[in-house]
Amino acid sequence: MFVHNKRLQYTVRVAAPNPGLANLLLEQFGGPQGELAAACRYFTQAVGEDDPGRKDLLFDIATEELSHLEIIGSIVAMLNKGAKGQLAEAVESEADLYRSLTGCGNDSHTTALLYGGGPALTNSAGVPWTAAYIDTIGEPTADLRSNIAAEARAKIVYERLINVADDPGIKEALGFLMTREIAHQKSFEKALHSIQPNFPQGKLPGVPEFTNVYYNMSSGNDARGPWNDGSDWKFVEDPQPAVDGGDGLATVGVSADDIEVLKAMASRTASNTSTDPATGADLGSGQA
Ligand code: MN
Ligand code: MN
Repeated sequence: MFVHNKRLQYTVRVAAPNPGLANLLLEQFGGPQGELAAACRYFTQAVGEDDPGRKDLLFDIATEELSHLEIIGSIVAMLNKGAKGQLAEAVESEADLYRSLTGCGNDSHTTALLYGGGPALTNSAGVPWTAAYIDTIGEPTADLRSNIAAEARAKIVYERLINVADDPGIKEALGFLMTREIAHQKSFEKALHSIQPNFPQGKLPGVPEFTNVYYNMSSGNDARGPWNDGSDWKFVEDPQPAVDGGDGLATVGVSADDIEVLKAMASRTASNTSTDPATGADLGSGQA
């Protein structure tokens, strides 16, 4: 059950409308790293989760992300207050209104025109939100890693937004939202490592002869580091196909009837390498 508390999770003080900034903030409203994507990601994982601890964690964070959605949406709405009234009431001349909407340096005129200055479920380029932003696979050791990465990306987008926002009240609210993504990341890290073992994901181990091998797939200036060097790794300098020691060919068993059909097709479409036919390219070049 959800109930709506009429107050925001964090106080929003916007000094003045700014449709251009509103448009940038849509990235965290309806963008891939945004709050709706985060809320839906954790909500759906929570519904499907059987572990009571993780279920509670996921519902708590999903609900907090909805609270963040409310905060970021409220900031967008405040920043668009001027544009919203101007569009609805047409108090300015067409030219002045057009200039005020398009003078912000990004797609704010598009989102203002389409959504009347209300928070739209789009990213900052006007691309509609999609459930395809959510990559849940239904295995906690994989999903928690994806959640950690999602929180990391959300943190970075907030950091970039803080760097372009000059309104101190907005900076402060964005700082809160950014910080909460750090806290969520920590919770997901702890939840991941409270499952032991958690690597590799799932039940099947990797094939031993390929699990700790690094294939050097290029030559010259090969960089070595802990990702391919040391006692954990077998570094294969010049890997040759097939690394399994087989002939590296692809084969399949097919029926005798299919062999006849495939032979007929191969014969019909065979290349004759002993001819040099004149083609459209030759005719068109005037040199045929
Ligand atoms: Mn959030
Ligand atoms: Mn978060």
